[in-house]
Amino acid sequence: MRVKEFMESFQKVLGGVTLQRDVPMKKYTSIAVGGNADFMVEPDSLEKVRDCIAFLSAYPVPFMVMGNGSNLIFSDEGYRGVIVKIGPRLSKIEVDGTRIVAEAGASLAAVAHKALEHSLTGLEFASGIPGSTGGAACMNAGAYDGEMKQVIEETLNVDKEGRFITLKGEEHSFSYRHSRIQQEGLICLKVVFALEKGDKNAIQAKMNDLNSRRREKQPLNMPSAGSVFKRPPGQFAGKLIDDCGLRGYAIGGAQVSDKHCGFIVNTGTATAADVINLIRYVQQKVYERTGTLLEPEVKIIGGNTLWNS
Ligand SMILES: Cc1cc2nc3c(=O)[nH]c(=O)nc-3n(C[C@H](O)[C@H](O)[C@H](O)COP(=O)(O)OP(=O)(O)OC[C@H]3O[C@@H](n4cnc5c(N)ncnc54)[C@H](O)[C@@H]3O)c2cc1C
Repeated sequence: MRVKEFMESFQKVLGGVTLQRDVPMKKYTSIAVGGNADFMVEPDSLEKVRDCIAFLSAYPVPFMVMGNGSNLIFSDEGYRGVIVKIGPRLSKIEVDGTRIVAEAGASLAAVAHKALEHSLTGLEFASGIPGSTGGAACMNAGAYDGEMKQVIEETLNVDKEGRFITLKGEEHSFSYRHSRIQQEGLICLKVVFALEKGDKNAIQAKMNDLNSRRREKQPLNMPSAGSVFKRPPGQFAGKLIDDCGLRGYAIGGAQVSDKHCGFIVNTGTATAADVINLIRYVQQKVYERTGTLLEPEVKIIGGNTLWNS
């Protein structure tokens, strides 16, 4: 496939959407590794997202959606295709009684803050999760005593054919770090949160408490993608890794955090290969010693080939 032909067709159909070329994914991901994506688009309306998706689906070019990049590791070869970023350009947040309606690019922290401003309780757990609202819905993000499942009433999504799809409550099939949005590759555009009236001081106190626990336990001063592995049933990934003597273990610039063994941090010079090799190493050692196979929670996006010129 030819780059020029693709760019011309895209501009013809989606003239108002800028197609960025050769985008360094290390700048768009919290762990700060990875090569370039061929293209990135960041539509600024729900209709433009739909039109982009419909165009890309009909074109023989790989594409993927990202939010804030806090759960993604791109390979050093980068991504041969188009990244559709749902970010700050789609981040309106509105309050309607005890409901909050947030566009998918709004940061979860901003939505939680809006809830606090309006004395709405239910989103305290989410105030320290560094993802977008859409990414959090897709991942059924959770922390401490909460997860998205408990507070999402409805989402507006678009499917790969460019059709709008509304999901309500149980139709999301939320489970641990999983959802129907993820399963079916839907693109989340908007989320309706159903919250409850609460006491502003109590909401603030809970957020402060959870965030100070986070600062105490997690290496928030270093680039990472959060917890690398899902929690194995009845166990904690970080404890298993620690018990296997891997605290602080490093490959190149990637290191099992000294502070929280469930995190892999970029000490400054990590490549994606360092991070991915360390993930594999940790999986292998933990499996050999305990029989538990740790399943990555982070999404690893591999290099692929596509263009002819
Ligand atoms: C320091 C740190 C702490 C963290 N703590 C937590 C925590 O406590 N709990 C927790 O659950 N996670 C945590 N995470 C992980 C991460 O923040 C969450 O998984 C978050 O929900 C990912 O959102 P994102 O917008 O960054 O998604 P991205 O990383 O951009 O993408 C993640 C996945 O979601 C998909 N996606 C993104 N946006 C959309 C959309 N609009 N529609 C459909 N699919 C989409 C992507 O395709 C990808 O598969 C942490 C990460 C870091 C770096």
